[in-house]
Amino acid sequence: MEPSAPLTLFNSLTRRAEPFQPVHEGEARVYTCGPTVYNYPHIGNMRAYVFADVLGRTLSFKGYKLTHVINITDVGHLTDDADDGEDKMERMAAAQKQSIWDVAEHYKQAYWADVHALNIRQPAQWTVATDYVAQMIDFAKGIAAKHCYELDSGLYFDVSTVADYGRLARAQTDEGEGRIEVVEGKRNAADFAIWRKTPPGETRQMEWDSPWGKGAPGWHLECSVMSGAVLGFPFDIHTGGIDHREIHHPNEIAQNQAHCCTNGLDDAANSGAKVWMHNNFLVERSGKMSKSSGEFLRLQLLIDKGYHPLAYRLLCLQAHYRSELEFSWEGLGAALTRLKRMLIALAKSDRPAGEGDISKREADFRHRFDQAISDDLNTPLALTVFEEVLSAPGLGPGWKMSIAEHMESVLGLNVFNLTRADLRIRPKSATITEAEIEATLAARKEARAAKDFARSDALRDELAGRGVEVMDGDPLGWEWKLAP
Ligand code: AMP
Ligand code: ZN
Repeated sequence: MEPSAPLTLFNSLTRRAEPFQPVHEGEARVYTCGPTVYNYPHIGNMRAYVFADVLGRTLSFKGYKLTHVINITDVGHLTDDADDGEDKMERMAAAQKQSIWDVAEHYKQAYWADVHALNIRQPAQWTVATDYVAQMIDFAKGIAAKHCYELDSGLYFDVSTVADYGRLARAQTDEGEGRIEVVEGKRNAADFAIWRKTPPGETRQMEWDSPWGKGAPGWHLECSVMSGAVLGFPFDIHTGGIDHREIHHPNEIAQNQAHCCTNGLDDAANSGAKVWMHNNFLVERSGKMSKSSGEFLRLQLLIDKGYHPLAYRLLCLQAHYRSELEFSWEGLGAALTRLKRMLIALAKSDRPAGEGDISKREADFRHRFDQAISDDLNTPLALTVFEEVLSAPGLGPGWKMSIAEHMESVLGLNVFNLTRADLRIRPKSATITEAEIEATLAARKEARAAKDFARSDALRDELAGRGVEVMDGDPLGWEWKLAP
């Protein structure tokens, strides 16, 4: 049965949920702003890719032929989005005394490892910024005469040359957040560099010749060029974190308008992409999300503490992507328990299909799930329908599997391949081995059978002393767990 609820998505450009109408019949073309590979991604960054993944999976589920592109920024992203500061890549390479190429490769691989661990599907293409520099120069040449001016430090885009600049951010051109004039000679405070010249007497590790002298492309230019080159303007959906709504994406839109020789944004197609979608932030009050803090919140830290990475994916799905999500270890622990419960429900042998009209019940489940996910990706609601299916009595294993598989293609929690043993990850700090734990538990069982409760308690305390919590009567059937 084909999914039938109309898909509506919230468009940041119009600030409305709109029915999705593809540019090309039956297709969906999506561009996601990818990571700047100068450091490990934190789990907040990964929320942006879990969101883009659920969007892509939903478009596939709805029957569209999906082309998803995610870029890898390996040059041009400054430490401040508004043209101030140093190139993040150059700075890290200098700090680590390594070549930029090595830094980029290392952190790209680390990012891909997180993508894999979170069961994020591979996009059709990963575009790497340094592969597109020639096209970036061509794009800049095409818009320079009408929209740009040159200063000593680079080629600048004059935002007053396009209509509706900043509509996405809803910021005033001169006073919006972050619009501090830091470069002398800029015509408007919001003007931004599309080509940054290497200062005289300096050499950058990454620089290219251009009509404006040796230098490197601006970060905003990169995304305009890569998205247009691979997907063609206009394409359907552009995604990123909500911070990109303020500077990066308005600047991409301005360049796209200039490039496509179109003006006002009343026709959303003039912005390069019809729909601009933004995930809200994952927040953490104690500042551990900062890449400069000691124990910074990488996915690997979660794993080191004994949490399966898909518990983090589930944590993300439990909140709507447009809501802020507060991170806590308790919340992550609860998500892990919920994932365990899903596996248990799935593994329970079910009574065979009863007499009732099963096809009607199946249609009802499918319809409710479809409605939830089609309503601007309401994953919290979709999850509850999924769980209802997993624990529905009398549905029969075959039916249950077929419905659940259909839903799982959107949720991506990998529950059909995971085992409960997979979810039990050994915290890195643990010193006791599983064999030792099992042996002590066996001895404890013997003691209890012999009604030697003093010994049984002593063994339990011994385990507790080594970080193992014995879980007698655990409703999920877990005998023990290691404290993180
Ligand atoms: P960056 O590598 O800094 O360009 O960031 C990669 C992606 O993560 C971008 O889409 C950002 O908007 C997004 N992002 C950054 N911080 C957070 C956060 N705390 N929660 C969710 N998304 C974030
Ligand atoms: Zn981008």
